[in-house]
Amino acid sequence: MQLSFQNDRVLAVVAHPDDAELLCAGTLARARPDGAVIAICVLCRGDKGQPSKKVANLTDLRRKEMAASAKLVGAELFTGDFPDGTLMDTPRARSKVIEIYRKFNPTLVLAHAAEDYHPDHRAASLIAEAASWFCASRGHRTRSPAIQTPPALWWMDTVNMSGFNPGFYVDISQHVGLKKKMLACHQSQLARGNDTDFSPLEEMMRLQYRARGMQAGVEAAEAFRAHFAFKRGRAW
Ligand SMILES: [Zn+2]
Repeated sequence: MQLSFQNDRVLAVVAHPDDAELLCAGTLARARPDGAVIAICVLCRGDKGQPSKKVANLTDLRRKEMAASAKLVGAELFTGDFPDGTLMDTPRARSKVIEIYRKFNPTLVLAHAAEDYHPDHRAASLIAEAASWFCASRGHRTRSPAIQTPPALWWMDTVNMSGFNPGFYVDISQHVGLKKKMLACHQSQLARGNDTDFSPLEEMMRLQYRARGMQAGVEAAEAFRAHFAFKRGRAW
């Protein structure tokens, strides 16, 4: 079976500025040359990801880092602007994300899995799922009109694969270079590699795409599960 993103509009909805790089950047990089239009929506500012050598305007810096990374893969960037650690599935957060869906009109949303480790990731998961239904509901009013069809939704792998049971894999062997370059845009976070409250991101990312690749019989892969809720499934 050949997976093609040819007619897709793919929107990755993530909690923090470097989450898309870790969990789905290879898939975005693969979707782009297929002809897909792609976008990344980062819900939190990244304002609490301070390296031990403090950065004065961390929110501004992280905004620049995520913009540079999105540009590399040719993705439009949307932001939720919520402070780190405060993201919750509230009516306000849903409205914000519903409006982003209506502006971008995705055919496929990539969202954090419910079993991910970080409370912001789990909140982002709930919000992304709720918005995937309500974006097509005329009764839920935001600035833009409701879109015609709810997008399909895939749950992304969890950070370090904990508790995630893959449904399928996307072969990203040809796109590892771009995934790495995108992660390299997040210098403020790579600087936290040896901090006790953080992890060496490059190594963690490499181990993950290699392990998922090994499970799928390719050099490198990203894992997902399809969300087969009413109107969010799709046929290939
Ligand atoms: Zn995160």
